[in-house]
Amino acid sequence: MNKFWSPAFQDLHPYTAGEQLAVPGLIKLNTNENPYAPSPAALAAIRAAANADLRLYPDPEGLILRQALARRHGLNVDQIFVGNGSDEVLALAFLALLRQPRPILFPDITYSFYPVYCQLYGIAYTNPPLDAEFRIHAEDYRRANGGIVLAHPNAPTGRALELPELRQLLEHNTDSAVIVDEAYVDFGADSVVAWIREFPQLLVIQTLSKSRALAGLRVGFAFGDSHLIEALRVAKDCFNSYPLDRLALAGAAAAIEDEDYFERMRRQVMESRARLTAGLEGLGFAVIPSEANFVFATHPRQDAAKLQAELRRRHVLVRHFARPRINHYLRISVGTDAQCDTLLQQLGEILGRSDLSR
Ligand SMILES: *Cc1c(COP(=O)(O)O)cnc(C)c1O
Repeated sequence: MNKFWSPAFQDLHPYTAGEQLAVPGLIKLNTNENPYAPSPAALAAIRAAANADLRLYPDPEGLILRQALARRHGLNVDQIFVGNGSDEVLALAFLALLRQPRPILFPDITYSFYPVYCQLYGIAYTNPPLDAEFRIHAEDYRRANGGIVLAHPNAPTGRALELPELRQLLEHNTDSAVIVDEAYVDFGADSVVAWIREFPQLLVIQTLSKSRALAGLRVGFAFGDSHLIEALRVAKDCFNSYPLDRLALAGAAAAIEDEDYFERMRRQVMESRARLTAGLEGLGFAVIPSEANFVFATHPRQDAAKLQAELRRRHVLVRHFARPRINHYLRISVGTDAQCDTLLQQLGEILGRSDLSR
């Protein structure tokens, strides 16, 4: 940084994305990407959209994608917002809904982008701690607040919210927005998208990056009462009128329509997750029950940071967070069965050594 930087940027701590190493044969289980290819129909639609029309701006309202989402969820297009990845949708939602006089609330252990947005926008926040099993309790959120943000399932734990707790929270919290980040919801948890009809304060955010295997296309969306969606549109139009390009809109709409492929891929990931969990438990790990496409695992005798470094040396990437309460855990994305087998085999060899214990 130097004197030309805006003063507020002098001590900003941005989000650290998982590393994207380009090593042949690398087993990449560190950023929760899908190990399978996207829908062939989505790829065909992207190819077909690569034509002379690219000289024209895309539809600023992203209507073909919002219509596909409206059909799938039985909603109106005015209840749907689309953006350049759900990280962007979250950034716009924090800007448009959560800059309030009171502090916002989110758990102490959750997606580490949330505090980054708070710092960027100067939003004060309080972090009710998850319990020892990484569960949230509705009563911890029963206090005056400027908004609530919850990931369902949570990251990096993989644990889904208990829906009766969430419903109770929404019934008591009617004066501020409640954002539910469903980036991983398609891997076994029940979505609360249908609840937006009942709760005008509820905004549900989803992405194509995980369950639709389209992290590289950058498409995310939000579902909510039309008044919330309108706030997001205002925020977008103060920032970038065209967050989704023509290729992304065409590919995303086709991906949403390919329900058969989606069902097959997500079932495969869920089956592999059960297999990976059993394999890790066989090696002595304790694994948090996961409804996501990753597992959060800890070994009673091994140092997680050292395990992560040793796996990396063997070209297997997993994620470790050097943060209080979770520094003994590894977050491991569910790969193909073959990738998970290699991970388990390498872990087995590493655990056979004694110099990594804690
Ligand atoms: C991956 C992830 C996102 C962001 O996904 P995009 O690729 O930006 O759509 C949002 N929230 C959580 C909890 C995530 O893990």
